[in-house]
Amino acid sequence: MAIEISDSKFRPMDDNTIIALLSGKGPDEALYEEADRIRREIYGDAVYLRGLIEISNYCRNNCYYCGIRKGNTKLDRYRLDKDTILACCRDGYALGFRTFVLQGGEDPYYGDEPYGSTDGDERLCDIVSEIHTRYPDCAVTLSMGERTRESYQRLFDAGARRYLLRHESASPDLYRTLHPAEMSLENRMRCLYDLKEIGYQVGAGLMVGAPGQTLDHLLYDIHFMQRLQPDMIGIGPYLRHSDTPFGRSSAQCAQGLHREQKLNLTLRLLAVLRILFPYALLPSTTALGTIDPEGRTLGLKAGANVIMPNLSPAEVRDQYAIYENKLSTGAESAQQVALLKQQVSDAGYQIVTDIGDVKCH
Ligand code: SAH
Repeated sequence: MAIEISDSKFRPMDDNTIIALLSGKGPDEALYEEADRIRREIYGDAVYLRGLIEISNYCRNNCYYCGIRKGNTKLDRYRLDKDTILACCRDGYALGFRTFVLQGGEDPYYGDEPYGSTDGDERLCDIVSEIHTRYPDCAVTLSMGERTRESYQRLFDAGARRYLLRHESASPDLYRTLHPAEMSLENRMRCLYDLKEIGYQVGAGLMVGAPGQTLDHLLYDIHFMQRLQPDMIGIGPYLRHSDTPFGRSSAQCAQGLHREQKLNLTLRLLAVLRILFPYALLPSTTALGTIDPEGRTLGLKAGANVIMPNLSPAEVRDQYAIYENKLSTGAESAQQVALLKQQVSDAGYQIVTDIGDVKCH
């Protein structure tokens, strides 16, 4: 059943309005208030938690922006085994988490082809079904990159119900400049539509201020998502990592947005997304918390309703370095959930112990 959102001066929002809102400088309190009003109509003041378990930083891909790309030889690689992942879930459950997100690079060990004595799918399915059996009141979310449809189906059958796969850019031109030739936007889209058809709650998303990205690209992303109708949309500022092609290139740095601009543009886009996708689950991301100490709270006030603290074992957290200085301590750490609860309640919201499914569109 669809709930009617009460009248708003922002809806329906045409392309010119979107561009005007995104191109404004500094914060836009009226826009954030409107997004917050809509979020409260649907989700009240609830903030859903997801326990993020970064299960591997091995990756077969070479995305130009990402610190765990295959070509980064400076990085110490790790992968978590089944027992370690289950121990993270046990700790997370005790802390009140009812969603576990298994995220990783495209590690062949957990991939969709045979690897070693068994195939990667089988290893991952085994872990998913064990979590699903032990914690029937929890959701298992995967964020393990591009796979075959058959693999997504097997993982669904094993008990996974949500999948996060940011589309990164819906514009073929920008997608090509962010990724090497062997990756394709076409396959990324194929994955997202397969996931939807199988029955997953699907998360798309992108980095704000990625090198070469313009507001027209963001408009393109919005149009794409209006067709896809994702249940979740993850956005956060692009942050550089020096051991990547983009991090090394001074041209890319000089062109990019400043810290403050990226923060404001991310908040503006979050608010626009809340207005255009009233029912979406929108995380206030770690990248937002990394770019500004108040980022997570500002994200909530601009329409976000999900936080994904880090549940990975403390000793590997620094190694999942998709960008530099990524936060994983303090309120970013699942173990510090009391601190996070306080921050969220000071901002006017409440962390709930809830599986946090999307409300029907
Ligand atoms: N392999 C998985 C998980 C990738 S990491 C997948 O493909 O979905 C999760 C997200 O981190 C990516 O989708 C990307 O949008 C973001 N990310 C990667 N490098 C980043 C950077 N330098 N700055 C900000 N976000 C980044």
